[in-house]
Amino acid sequence: MTAMTTIAMPTVKQTKNLIDGKWVDAASGRTFNAYNPSTSEVIAEVAESDANDVDRAVRAAQDAFQGSWSKFTSRERGKLLYKLADLIEDNADELAALETLNNGKPISEVKAADVPLVIATFRYYAGWADKIYGETVPIDSNDFFVYTKKEAVGVCGQIIPWNFPMLMLAWKWGPALAAGNTIILKPAEQTPLTALRIGELAMEAGFPKGVINIVNGFGESAGDALVKHRGVDKIAFTGHYETAQLIMKSAADTLKRITFELGGKSPNVVFADADMEQAVQGAMMGIFFNQGEVCCAGSRLFVEQSSHDEFIEKFKVAAESHRVGDPFDLKTQQGAQVSKEQYEKILSYIDIGKNEAELVTGGEPAQDKGWFVKPTIFAGVSNDMRIAQEEIFGPVVSVIPFKDHDDLIRQANDTVYGLAAAVWTQNISKAMRLANEVRAGTVWVNCYNTFDPAAPFGGYKFSGHGRECGKDAIHNYVETKTVWVSTK
Ligand code: NAD
Repeated sequence: MTAMTTIAMPTVKQTKNLIDGKWVDAASGRTFNAYNPSTSEVIAEVAESDANDVDRAVRAAQDAFQGSWSKFTSRERGKLLYKLADLIEDNADELAALETLNNGKPISEVKAADVPLVIATFRYYAGWADKIYGETVPIDSNDFFVYTKKEAVGVCGQIIPWNFPMLMLAWKWGPALAAGNTIILKPAEQTPLTALRIGELAMEAGFPKGVINIVNGFGESAGDALVKHRGVDKIAFTGHYETAQLIMKSAADTLKRITFELGGKSPNVVFADADMEQAVQGAMMGIFFNQGEVCCAGSRLFVEQSSHDEFIEKFKVAAESHRVGDPFDLKTQQGAQVSKEQYEKILSYIDIGKNEAELVTGGEPAQDKGWFVKPTIFAGVSNDMRIAQEEIFGPVVSVIPFKDHDDLIRQANDTVYGLAAAVWTQNISKAMRLANEVRAGTVWVNCYNTFDPAAPFGGYKFSGHGRECGKDAIHNYVETKTVWVSTK
């Protein structure tokens, strides 16, 4: 008998909006399609919200914020978050399969990375709930006692992308709920299904009605309505910087608090003294993990000139043995791109690359059915080319040679982005010098794509405002209140 290598298809249980504790159709009755990227087939019709649905959700979130949720103690909030983490763990296989079905990413990676990180994130922030507090303030007078309190911001609109649908939800919900806010989540229109299933689990965990609301739909309608609504106190957004620019403008009238996690064009640097096998694996992980649909993908691969040719040879062999295909097959290493639009965008960048640089391998669809792209390497790239400057968000890497440290730093920082960077070397001084000089929110030394809910993540420059994960994320969801008490 051969071992089972393929996982069964999950059932889609929920496609409606979650508003005030109830699962409801969109007020207009409209729906949009959710697809399976590995077959391009429609798998569900999901409620398509507009400003009316957003308004209902905001009212529910306001009522809960002022009412039931405000009566919960911090430790009770933590207990609910622990309970939600447990329920996610109990339903881990189903959630993993649903994520693979709707996103196209390999099930083995969802099980090894996405699901455990989601559970860990909820547990981490459950632990924070009763550790968010102010200070006493030593002012220049004995006639007052001054202290600060940390209070929830209020109703938070959270808009997330499609590349890590469950994890982006967890990064948003964890700190917001721990700090006592209420939420309206707008999942990406491409990948709403796991958010809806986690919404069901949140209801089962016992979150009061209105604390967690989910409105499905498109950015320009549902997302924009959330950004413009007067009843929303804060927007937390993850996505493209051009969308963030629109959001900033739309949020100006209501002066909302905003945090952004945006894109990147992260430099992954290989010095000639690196362990080459390790560096090749690091380059593979840096660009091909999650089909290259990773905000911190190592899409600019800087290789020291003296080891450039040897590196390219090894990297080509590794890329050509990368297993692309059915994401439900446990042996698959790279699944489907999330949507037809994204697939076509990647292929159009590959065409640009073919005109600008030298194609080493890949450069075409990986199979006829579904939205699969071969791992693609371009060499002979200079940092000013479009494939080196623009976020492709697919399995396409630009290899750029460098002469010395100064040449490297100048090029590495010559980008609008500043999300992450990595360095492969056996010389700790070189690594630390790079870590000091590169303008990026995360630097990995002899590793790539390592994450933990305790470790802050976010970007410099066009890569974002604020940090998610860690204690930093709590700051995004609290106001500081200063209280003066006369002691005379
Ligand atoms: P996107 O900006 O197109 O969409 C993201 C979300 O914003 C979706 O839910 C979408 O419906 C919504 N949206 C679109 N237009 C809107 C508008 N006018 N008003 C309000 N909401 C709107 O991004 P995407 O293509 O879904 O995601 C890819 C991008 O996300 C990449 O740039 C990637 O680097 C970035 N990303 C960043 C991180 C991070 O942590 N820094 C993580 C994941 C993805």
